Amino acid sequence: MGPFETSESCQEWKEEYELPFDVIPDEDGTIFKKLSNGWVPYTLLVGSDGKVVLWESEFEEEGFAAVVEKLFQEPTDAQAEPEAAVRAVPQRAGRGLGANIVILGGGAGGLVAAHHLRRKLSGRDRIILIDRSPNHLFQSSLLWHAVGQRRADQIQRPLSDLTRKGVEFINEEVVEIDAASRQVRTKSQAIDFDFLIVSLGAQLRPDEVEGFDEMALNLYDLEGTAKINAALDSFSGGTVGVLVTDMPFKCPAAPYEAALLVESFLRKKGVRDRSEIHIYTPEHQPMPVTGTAMGEAITKVLHKRNIQYHPLFTFEKMDPSERTIIKSGGEPQKVDLLLAIPPHRAPEVVRSSGLIGSSGWMHTDPHTMATEHEGVYAIGDVNSIRLANGKNLPMAGVFAHYEAGVVAERILAEIEGKPATATFNGKGYCWLELGDGKAGIASGNFYAEPEPAVRLYPPMHPWHWGKVLFEKWWLRHWF
Ligand SMILES: Cc1cc2nc3c(=O)[nH]c(=O)nc-3n(C[C@H](O)[C@H](O)[C@H](O)COP(=O)(O)OP(=O)(O)OC[C@H]3O[C@@H](n4cnc5c(N)ncnc54)[C@H](O)[C@@H]3O)c2cc1C
Repeated sequence: MGPFETSESCQEWKEEYELPFDVIPDEDGTIFKKLSNGWVPYTLLVGSDGKVVLWESEFEEEGFAAVVEKLFQEPTDAQAEPEAAVRAVPQRAGRGLGANIVILGGGAGGLVAAHHLRRKLSGRDRIILIDRSPNHLFQSSLLWHAVGQRRADQIQRPLSDLTRKGVEFINEEVVEIDAASRQVRTKSQAIDFDFLIVSLGAQLRPDEVEGFDEMALNLYDLEGTAKINAALDSFSGGTVGVLVTDMPFKCPAAPYEAALLVESFLRKKGVRDRSEIHIYTPEHQPMPVTGTAMGEAITKVLHKRNIQYHPLFTFEKMDPSERTIIKSGGEPQKVDLLLAIPPHRAPEVVRSSGLIGSSGWMHTDPHTMATEHEGVYAIGDVNSIRLANGKNLPMAGVFAHYEAGVVAERILAEIEGKPATATFNGKGYCWLELGDGKAGIASGNFYAEPEPAVRLYPPMHPWHWGKVLFEKWWLRHWF
């Protein structure tokens, strides 16, 4: 545990999450310094035989070996190939030589970027984060919230807490982004920027589906997952449907995780034998971007848990009066409890500000995250990044997180007048939560050619603990 933890807080972690191993504090930060890439700690689980059995950050064997090796070395900064040309930071009259860095969105990407920049920049540089929500939500825990394993207050943190760290927070809706005149506008003010990071995520549009509010519960927001939890509590048997209404959607694993968690929930509640669980999705296989083997592995798990899978279900409409969902050219499917993922669109402000490309999303350089506008970067779900296999980089927090680090490094370099060298390499990972305290993990290089090189690690308890620890770390580390 990091340098801010005490023996007591470590013990609390152990008890709260019923961890079968000891948690000890890293009082003077020695371990953090050796086992981190500067801001993201690698989390190691060491077996009773003294061997490391898990580490999280990059789940690769080479990386794994490198971390162990790093224990015995002085930390060095990983540098990619230097690039030439740096941009002079404008010196604005009346504000000294500091830069104005504006970050739109305090979700996964915006939060990491703000933190990283603040740690490295001097106080004369302003970091201003704008979000219409007062809270940061750790979205992957929504699924645990849906099955009653988390309360809403356990998976959110107030963004105003960032002011303690020197980040200015404006809790307002962004209504215009003027990249040419280097200004963003909220409902009440205009803010100039030297650098802009757009991390506004994907906008959920349940309103595009007629009958959604009457028939479906939104799996992707807090209000929806609270309702799902209440509905599951009073569920005494019937048909549960998990529906993907449209593509793309964030976290390709989420519908499968949701179905598996619900299956485990109903089994523990004693109503599984009176229930059917169905997944309806337009995809031709689970997590198609990761390849056939991954799809087959997940399908096998679904089969084993008696979850009916309906791929190529191109959703057309729902009929709340009959409680049915219908795919184009298909028969109505009756569903008693419908958990739905609404259509995702680029945020309205990004569209109305003329910042989207032909894909309907923002376009950036896939390595530097730079847009065509000088000093304007975009990270996370708001982007569409085409991979070598013709599919898109999935919308996932892990990518928003790593991209944020890259953009922060590049902005720092520009401010310091050094060559910007940091690049995003397409590496990432994703947990697949199965319920019953188990998870699988998929990890690899999504920029590999001719297609992503992603490996699935079989389900086991430590992956689940890894996910729990990551959640705890995330919500403590950034706030
Ligand atoms: C159920 C679920 C499970 C998931 N599980 C995982 C997982 O296991 N692993 C993983 O890697 N990813 C997971 N994800 C995906 C992950 O949460 C997102 O990909 C990630 O949050 C994207 O980060 P972002 O910064 O691009 O956008 P977001 O985190 O969505 O942040 C966008 C922010 O912008 C703000 N905003 C939007 N418009 C405006 C506006 N006009 N004005 C002001 N503020 C605005 C929003 O309030 C929000 O705070 C999951 C998502 C869900 C829903």
